[in-house]
Amino acid sequence: MKFIFLALVSALSFNALAHIDSEGSPAPKMRFASSELGLADAVPTQFLQVQPEKITGFTKYPAELKRMQEAFEIIETVINSNEFKEKVINFINKKGVRSYVRSNGLTNEGVYEAIMAGNELIGGAQTPGEMNFNVSRYMKFWSKVIGYTNPGKSNTMYVNGKFYKKFSAAEITSNVTHEWLHLCGFYHGSAAEHDSVPYAVGYIMRDLALKLEAQGYLN
Ligand SMILES: [Zn+2]
Repeated sequence: MKFIFLALVSALSFNALAHIDSEGSPAPKMRFASSELGLADAVPTQFLQVQPEKITGFTKYPAELKRMQEAFEIIETVINSNEFKEKVINFINKKGVRSYVRSNGLTNEGVYEAIMAGNELIGGAQTPGEMNFNVSRYMKFWSKVIGYTNPGKSNTMYVNGKFYKKFSAAEITSNVTHEWLHLCGFYHGSAAEHDSVPYAVGYIMRDLALKLEAQGYLN
C-alpha cells in the first residue's frame, strides 16, 4: 500500500513537467513579428548538432525507432534553418508582446541563443553546440502523458509508446524538442501555457517539420 502511494506521488510530480496530450484541442494560431524588421539578422546564426545518446525501449519497435531517427534528422535541419531562427526571435505571445512566458528572464534573442548553445542543465557547458539527450520508451495505456523529464537529474526523456506508436516524424520532432527544452531548464505551467518556450518552440518545430516535409527544403 505504501508502495502504491509513493508511486502515485511520483507520478504526480512527474506530471508537473509532463507534456500532456492535447489531442482534440488544436495548436494555437501563432503570431510573429515581420522578418522585414531585421530582428533576427542582428543575431549571429549558430549551428546545433543533434546528438542523441542512449535510446532504450525500442528493440521490439523498429518502425518507431526508424521514425524517431528520421525525426532527429528533421530536427537538425529545422533548427539550423533561417526560418526557425526568424520564428523563434519574432514570436509574439497572446498579449501581443514579443516575448515568451517563463523565459528565465531571456529575450527572444536570448532564447534562440540558449537553444543553439545546447546548454542542457547537466553537461551542457561541456558540449556546446550539441543537443544531447537520451530517450527511454515506456508504455502506459491509461495515461494522457506523452512524455516527461526530470530536468537537472538526468538528460533522459521518457516517452509513452501509446503516443509514439502513432506519431508521425513531425509530431516526434515537436515532442522531442519540447522535452529537450525542459532538460535545458525551460518550463511551463499547465499544458495550456502555449506561450512558454517548450510549447511555443515545440509548435514552431512541428510547423517547420511539416513545411520541410511538404516542400523538401527550408530557407
Ligand atoms: Zn512539458
